[in-house]
Amino acid sequence: MNILGPCAAESEEQLLRIAQRISRVSRAYLTIFRAGIWKPRTSPDTFQGVGDVGLTWLQRVKREYGLPVATEVATPEQVRKALEAGMDYLWLGARTSANPILVQTLTDAIKEHPQALKGILVKNPVNEDAALWIGNIRRLQTTGLPIFAVHRGCNHRPCWAMAYQLRQEMPEVPLLLDPSHMSGDAARVSGLCRIAAELQYDGLMVEVHDNPQEALSDAKQQITPAELEQIQQQISDSETIQHPAAQRSNDLLWLRHMMDEVDDALWETIAKRMEVSRRIGAYKKANGIEVVQPDRFEQILTRRLAWAQNKSLTAGTVRQIMEALHAESIRVQQ
Ligand code: PEP
Ligand code: MN
Repeated sequence: MNILGPCAAESEEQLLRIAQRISRVSRAYLTIFRAGIWKPRTSPDTFQGVGDVGLTWLQRVKREYGLPVATEVATPEQVRKALEAGMDYLWLGARTSANPILVQTLTDAIKEHPQALKGILVKNPVNEDAALWIGNIRRLQTTGLPIFAVHRGCNHRPCWAMAYQLRQEMPEVPLLLDPSHMSGDAARVSGLCRIAAELQYDGLMVEVHDNPQEALSDAKQQITPAELEQIQQQISDSETIQHPAAQRSNDLLWLRHMMDEVDDALWETIAKRMEVSRRIGAYKKANGIEVVQPDRFEQILTRRLAWAQNKSLTAGTVRQIMEALHAESIRVQQ
């Protein structure tokens, strides 16, 4: 299953142009057309979506290109309007997914006419919280509709551990990857699509715009239909097509992605430490203080060794790492 289309519907012509291109990409398995019309934007000064009129544009996409259509809902009123307009799928965004009361309210609204829908997609919450995501899926499952989980990461980090936990606890729930929101960067979309294939995700949700630079929202992360076609050529459809749960286990690959993500965070933290060190160096110089302060290093080391006692870290290793960090700090300060 692939959900493809622009971040936001901007005009009727734009939607039809993009739908025409998407309708020509591989249909080896279900392709759904996406466009947001009520956009959850951070700032009230930016484009908030075209609103209700977008539903009639999506109806035209469905009629003229035979594509099932999906849009995002965040209020019971939006659910009602979307169902009345014949949307095939609805998705709950990451901000909505952070609020279980809202998810329950939307579930109740969908339950009034569940037969009008083919399925519901729910993104992971904006914060890394697998339990909340799982709870949302359980709420939505009470509608009796097929529920799909969409992994979009947090703060442009993948948070592989969160998706791994979901897959372990709910192997029957189809898991899709959204490389657009996960990276926030069009250049990283194809690499993430490849990882999704490797990890046997059940599909993708990708933002596709015919003129990304001019997009009214998420301009940096949308790819063109031509780029989408390239990605599709690279990844054969069979790789992400529905895998029975039993065949999915590739734990080593998952664990390696998790480790790479931890390493990224670790090195970013080390770089931040050196930046603080540089500022300390400037202060010491301005105030005539010696760079090397052995007492201070002993204090830091003692505190770290005490902390490490409750972790599975050996004192020797902790000491070696602290000494390496300290040596680099001195170099930066000098
Ligand atoms: C979207 O899909 O356009 C969207 C707003 O996504 P998210 O909720 O993941 O930020
Ligand atoms: Mn978007």
